Amino acid sequence: MADIIQLLPDHVANQIAAGEVVQRPASVVKELLENAIDAGADTIKLIIKDAGKTLVQVIDNGKGMSNTDARLSFERHATSKIRNAEDLFQLHTKGFRGEALASIAAIAHVELKTKQEQDDVGNTLIIEGSKVTSQEVVVTPTGTSVSVKNLFFNIPARRNFLKSDTVELRHVIDEFHRVALAHSNISFAMYNNGSESFNLPISNYRQRIVNIFGNKINEKLVPVEEDTEVLKISGFVGKPEFAKKTRGEQFFFVNNRFVKSAYLNHAIASAFEGLLKNGTYPSYFLNLTVNPQTIDINIHPTKTEIKFDDEHTLYALLRSAVKHSLGQFNIAPVLDFERDPNLDTPYSFKKDSTNAPKVEVDKSFNPFQNEETSKARAVTYKKEPTTSWESLYVGLESKGNDSKSDFTEIQFESEERTASIFDDDKQVEKTHTTYQLHNKYIVSAIKSGMLVIDQHRAHQRILYEDFLNNLTIKEAASQQLLFPLQLHFSPQDITIINQLKVDLEHTGFVFSSVKEELVEITGVPVGVPESEVSIILEQLISDVENEVPESHFSASDLLAKSMAKSLAIKTGQSLQKDEQEHLVNKLFACKEPNVSPTNRTTFVTMSVDELDKKFI
Ligand code: ADP
Ligand code: MG
Repeated sequence: MADIIQLLPDHVANQIAAGEVVQRPASVVKELLENAIDAGADTIKLIIKDAGKTLVQVIDNGKGMSNTDARLSFERHATSKIRNAEDLFQLHTKGFRGEALASIAAIAHVELKTKQEQDDVGNTLIIEGSKVTSQEVVVTPTGTSVSVKNLFFNIPARRNFLKSDTVELRHVIDEFHRVALAHSNISFAMYNNGSESFNLPISNYRQRIVNIFGNKINEKLVPVEEDTEVLKISGFVGKPEFAKKTRGEQFFFVNNRFVKSAYLNHAIASAFEGLLKNGTYPSYFLNLTVNPQTIDINIHPTKTEIKFDDEHTLYALLRSAVKHSLGQFNIAPVLDFERDPNLDTPYSFKKDSTNAPKVEVDKSFNPFQNEETSKARAVTYKKEPTTSWESLYVGLESKGNDSKSDFTEIQFESEERTASIFDDDKQVEKTHTTYQLHNKYIVSAIKSGMLVIDQHRAHQRILYEDFLNNLTIKEAASQQLLFPLQLHFSPQDITIINQLKVDLEHTGFVFSSVKEELVEITGVPVGVPESEVSIILEQLISDVENEVPESHFSASDLLAKSMAKSLAIKTGQSLQKDEQEHLVNKLFACKEPNVSPTNRTTFVTMSVDELDKKFI
């Protein structure tokens, strides 16, 4: 038989390898920013066009490259940062694989301009699909500028795979934030389609956070400092009452590198235990400094995962440092461990609270108390096993909206999941009554047996169909506000609001102005309480940020879903009899009553037969 193995041509191999490094414009942003930092720059500019699909350019004032290095830098495994495998354990640079520029050059049009301080002129190189098409001498300032144009120009499948500009820009901004937060000693600017999105001068860490997320965040930050032999922690956590509905503002940096670590995240969550409203997440901006020999960041190609030698110790230290800060600043009266936690009212969300927090230092507070139990919990990530008979009821208390109680996990069988569920038995229908169970479910008798409706999901379905109708078919009515409502947002949130403005107006919102950090609203959709508006918008922004759109991504669908989620009757809300019946009727008037807008079951039925079987 003839030989069938072939060596792939270089340019194909390069394109395949590029997939590891470059998934989207944001990956290019990350690599170029990191190279600029490794080059010792203290001023770095990022220029983006069309969410980076058309152009990503990074200009730095770092040390630049020689004529030869400029050419070499695009070769695979060409790096100035390590010489042998041992160097891997003493890394002080971001890059070390020598792959980024080679990968980027394989799948884009790249233009490099670079000059070293001692030289009068620099070099410019143009590379297209891994081929150098020109190299010339050029007059350019000291430092390096890399422009990456038309990403994936030669791999249409990858290009089509990119998400909407909104989503890609979000990823770019996330990457920019991560790098900028890790280096407040470097000045950064970002320009998007010709206008300045961020201008971050060299500053202290707190000021850097404020410059990125807006002035309002300043009052929400609680400093965290800890210095031990194995670990230095510095940074801020957000006060619990400002916890967000999304994980957006959670940043860990280890030796100035952004990392994701579910384990360390858990350490912080546990320090906040008892302080947060259900379904909210604390903000944090924490820098951990450890000996580079004790970590392995080499386990993942995009390098946000990290492995520590001694995770348990880090966990305990981090948890106690955060607890200590919250205690010191008396953010939490609940930190009094002697008290029965059941007697504490959950921290309530006070939007209008402008009172300065009382600073009462709890001198008896000992962050190392309870360490044993929390450690055990952290390691297993599980709840303690249930032992007493009372625990049978645990799943029945009303929890967060989407948390599954034991009850929802029971699988009911049902032959009748149709809109005509009440129809052909007038007898039952006339006398049918509803009953609310645990402020969560509406139970009703039906012809075949019993119907149990999840009130939150059912209401979401109803509102979703209403909103979608308004958005796509008719203009919704708007209700004028007596006084315009002013809401503060970070600059990147404003970008999203601007993108959705037209759709929002279709639902009944009226905006009188959308400015840098301020949105002014003069009208809201009929039936939407003014007090809910900021929550709706916040939820919407976070949904857009976290959305993983399919190819048929639709803004109106997302908006309808998000608003339905915000406005739907919550689990835990008690309903009058007529409200319960109204909900049932409206649900079965929906086009798809069976599932919530996010495809979760809205109701289950149980037949008399099934019930009978349980009593055998
Ligand atoms: P790595 O960063 O892993 O070394 P890259 O492909 O990102 O690999 O870069 C290859 C080499 O090019 C780097 O090691 C560095 O010497 C040089 N280089 C890249 N970008 C810059 C820059 N902005 N300024 C100076 N040198 C650079
Ligand atoms: Mg690099």
